[in-house]
Amino acid sequence: MLDNIRIVLVNTSHPGNIGSAARAMKTMGIHDLVLVDPVEAPNGQTIAMAAGAVDVLANARTVTSLAEAVADCGLVIGSSARSRTLEWPLLDPREAGAKSILESTQHKVALVFGRERTGLTNEELQQCHYHVCIPANPDYSSLNLAMAVQTICYEVRMHHLANDRVPETVDDYPQQQDLDRFYAHLEQLLLQVNFLRTDHPGQVMSKLRRVFNRARPDSQELNILRGILTAVQKTLRNT
Ligand code: SAH
Repeated sequence: MLDNIRIVLVNTSHPGNIGSAARAMKTMGIHDLVLVDPVEAPNGQTIAMAAGAVDVLANARTVTSLAEAVADCGLVIGSSARSRTLEWPLLDPREAGAKSILESTQHKVALVFGRERTGLTNEELQQCHYHVCIPANPDYSSLNLAMAVQTICYEVRMHHLANDRVPETVDDYPQQQDLDRFYAHLEQLLLQVNFLRTDHPGQVMSKLRRVFNRARPDSQELNILRGILTAVQKTLRNT
């Protein structure tokens, strides 16, 4: 199950933090690390901080965007120290651990961590199904990146170890890349019928993402939605 858990670090500034995060992961039995556009590539400092977890680093992949890092995942949870402009379904670390373990029996699960200084952008947070917030001291709630990775991975491990759970069944959810295709298709249609304007897109697509994110369509339901978009486009072409 833990093999299906992926840690994604977005645009990390300090190579040492990447090493510490790798160590935090390995101590909890998690090995899949993806780096999105690190400011500095892993170096000697990374290796020093990784200590006995250099194998996690050696197997880490580097990609250029968050979309690429989570394309094959069925569940994406973004961690953030504070709530953003558009409210999103929020989990506490324990709930995030439970959900990750439950769904990891079915598909890959990404846990996403942001930049040291500025965290994740709103656009990145909107690529997640859920957000997780460590309920730290409200007067100083920002943990060091690797400490946040440790805390979340610990909760994942606790649920992994609680293997006396009654197995629950999980729906067949689409991968993130299929959802992205759906959103692109929806946007295309909304532009076509002049509901959206290229010069003035506003927050409509973000809010629509939130609606579908809340509903969490399974693969079959997403196919129906895609089918509807295609049918409307066909009819528009013929009128
Ligand atoms: N000032 C930034 C904090 C960045 S800390 C911000 O406001 O978002 C680097 C990363 O560690 C964050 O992007 C987040 O992924 C994680 N992190 C730090 N503190 C956290 C907390 N209390 N809850 C959840 N994630 C946290």
